[in-house]
Amino acid sequence: MFEFLLLSKIPPSQLGYYFICKRKLWLVANGIEQEQHSSIVQLAKLAEATVNLRKTKNLKLFNAVIDWVELRNNTIHEYKASDKYSEASRFQCNYYLLLFNRMGCPVDTAVIHYKATNKTETLLLANVVESEIFKIIEAAEQLVLQETPPGIPKGAPCKHCAFFDFCYS
Ligand code: SF4
Repeated sequence: MFEFLLLSKIPPSQLGYYFICKRKLWLVANGIEQEQHSSIVQLAKLAEATVNLRKTKNLKLFNAVIDWVELRNNTIHEYKASDKYSEASRFQCNYYLLLFNRMGCPVDTAVIHYKATNKTETLLLANVVESEIFKIIEAAEQLVLQETPPGIPKGAPCKHCAFFDFCYS
């Protein structure tokens, strides 16, 4: 199972799209990249950069990039522009916790910082259900292998999405 986690070709940051829009996951994972033009993504990157200047540098672990690792307290931190996609953020952090754990690193806590509301959410390794993480990874891997992207899902957050023109032209 761990090998599958490490060998997942989809970075955890992209896996989060599984919860937001499966069409977007397919587009990004298949190299159709529009993100650099999105103002929301720029805002998130700016928030992240501000924090990183004060605290630490991003840590790259396989295909994951963790915003801030606080080894003294066995804690990792992720910075998000808002809590709108908190399910995706939680998945991403639980994935990181599992990854650190399997690497033998005693990180057991993840804190998500939501910039828009100035709130935080704390996740514990003890609550991570490994089989659920693998289930999502497996489903995402299958999805991106499809020859064509899924259709536009009902309720997808298209209005502020970088792929808007692509999907609606
Ligand atoms: S525009 Fe809508 S359907 Fe297209 S990728 Fe973005 S969220 Fe998904």
